[in-house]
Amino acid sequence: MITGWRCWDISPNGHLWSPLNYGGDVEWPPGPMRAVCEAPVTRERHPVPDPECSCGFRSVPDLGGFCTVILWGHKLFLPKVVGLARIGGRTCAADAYGDPGSAIRAEWAAVAGPLHLGQPFAAAAPLLAGVYGADVILSDTDQLDWMSGAIAGDHAAWTASPASLGQRLYRPNREARRRAAALMRRFPR
Ligand SMILES: [Zn+2]
Repeated sequence: MITGWRCWDISPNGHLWSPLNYGGDVEWPPGPMRAVCEAPVTRERHPVPDPECSCGFRSVPDLGGFCTVILWGHKLFLPKVVGLARIGGRTCAADAYGDPGSAIRAEWAAVAGPLHLGQPFAAAAPLLAGVYGADVILSDTDQLDWMSGAIAGDHAAWTASPASLGQRLYRPNREARRRAAALMRRFPR
């Protein structure tokens, strides 16, 4: 499974929202989602993503590279949620549009988790865990600390032993986990 780090906003429904988009807000459903190109009609239709276009779901394979981007861009927006998405289908490098060198754009994406949530948004954790069937880790810091070392530390702890996160870990119940796994089987190989 290929995964990449990305960030989200939280929609009024308590679901994940793409943080920056120019064609309208996109709420992420549970399970796989296929990207569409919303480039101006002046461009020819093409398979998504296209190296010369900006379409596709962006993510950064390594957390270090991702945090560098977020810290660079924090004056523009402060993500509420940072986490892992499963990505697949067609992919291409994303750097043509000022994205970091390691970023990629993908045709297919799905929330994989775990999701790291900033302390100010703690109330959203149970619903996010249930909707996406993913572990949600509540940071014990907020602001910039949350977006740099805190995520790496929490992710390492989760990888080694989720229980070590104690009360800061929200886990989906068995039914939510089963539903998410069933949807993920639709992810194209
Ligand atoms: Zn396009």
